[in-house]
Amino acid sequence: MSATVSADNPPVRRLSDWSDARLDDLADEYDTPLYVIDLERVRENYARLAAAFPDADVHFAAKANTSRAVLETLEAEGASIECASAGETERAFAAGFEGERVHYTAVNPPGIDLDRAVELAADHPGLTVTVGAADTIDRLAERGYDGRLCLRVNPGVGAGHHEKVRTGADAKFGVPYDRAASLLESAADDFDVVGIHAHAGSGISGDDLGNHRELVSRMGELARTIDPDLEFVDVGGGFGVPYHPDDPPLDLESVADATRDALGDLDATLVVEPGRYLVADAGVLLTRVNTVKEAPETTVVGVDAGMTALVRPALYDSYHHIRSVGADGQAVETTVAGPICESSDTFGTHLLADPTRGDLLAVGNAGAYGYEMASQYNSRPRPAVVVVDGDRTGVAHRRETHADVIATETEVTWE
Ligand SMILES: *Cc1c(COP(=O)(O)O)cnc(C)c1O
Repeated sequence: MSATVSADNPPVRRLSDWSDARLDDLADEYDTPLYVIDLERVRENYARLAAAFPDADVHFAAKANTSRAVLETLEAEGASIECASAGETERAFAAGFEGERVHYTAVNPPGIDLDRAVELAADHPGLTVTVGAADTIDRLAERGYDGRLCLRVNPGVGAGHHEKVRTGADAKFGVPYDRAASLLESAADDFDVVGIHAHAGSGISGDDLGNHRELVSRMGELARTIDPDLEFVDVGGGFGVPYHPDDPPLDLESVADATRDALGDLDATLVVEPGRYLVADAGVLLTRVNTVKEAPETTVVGVDAGMTALVRPALYDSYHHIRSVGADGQAVETTVAGPICESSDTFGTHLLADPTRGDLLAVGNAGAYGYEMASQYNSRPRPAVVVVDGDRTGVAHRRETHADVIATETEVTWE
């Protein structure tokens, strides 16, 4: 368990820990905006988490970062994977995950997703489908599916740093807690019922352990009342990461202790499924300053990455720390803003050393929900993604071009 505190695997990698020279070289070679993902840090995060939860299965919530190189890295380390759509499930198999290490969690699944999931389950026995509505169980049965089934339960407790990422108390996700046992028992006639699942939202921190405990203990209680016996109890992800340089790292040992304690005695295997914890601090977004404007209230620093490259600040009011790579000089309070014609297109207020046109800025904790949520709004091509691993560098996503942006557009032929 020393992995969690050892100097060569620190609990958090801060933005200041990235090498200026390396980031400069990458920006020069691959241009900006550019995502940089360090696969060695992904391995370290997985090792630390797996050490804190030695009896649990660790599933990576793929929606945080589906780059093939990231998935292959985690697969090789022994992780399992949690997929939010048929598309992600497909990518998990393409990255080499075996059927029994893949869970597909269907949220109001379009028919096309269920069709594909049933096909994938036939090719990859062991795939587990997690459903959050009785209706979805019927839709799987209609498609002839009789494989591994897990029920997503709405535990009635929520955690989270923002209302939009809190899902536990939201009726959209999972079946009501008090209907779960009877639904599972009836589903057991037609499916291989293997587990129950809950995910309370994102941002579990030291302060939020009360909610986490409550969720886990309710899941433990439910598992003990269910007949047939379950193979696993999945208590979700949402392990928080420090987005602000002054935020302490998550005390993983406390979370793990609280989880074991709250779960109580159980034959079933505990499953945890973090996304951001495994990849957030393994990534930065590099962006170049193109405009510096003195306004009466602030200095506006215009950069080439905007909400289309990283939407979390605009969408969730998230803080992402920003520093000027290699710059020194007087720190000035600035507003860092992107090139999108939209007032929410800003990365907030940051102290930057002597902001100058041409400066390279690094945006921290961009490895989770960064490229994944990128869009082409304003006809802006999505950034490139490079992965680094020790001294090696490789392109994981090439930079899009304007031709890519219009690639699906067709000249309308009227009928
Ligand atoms: C998003 C999600 C996760 C991962 O959340 P993180 O905050 O990235 O850890 C895990 N499970 C489910 C079902 C999710 O929807």
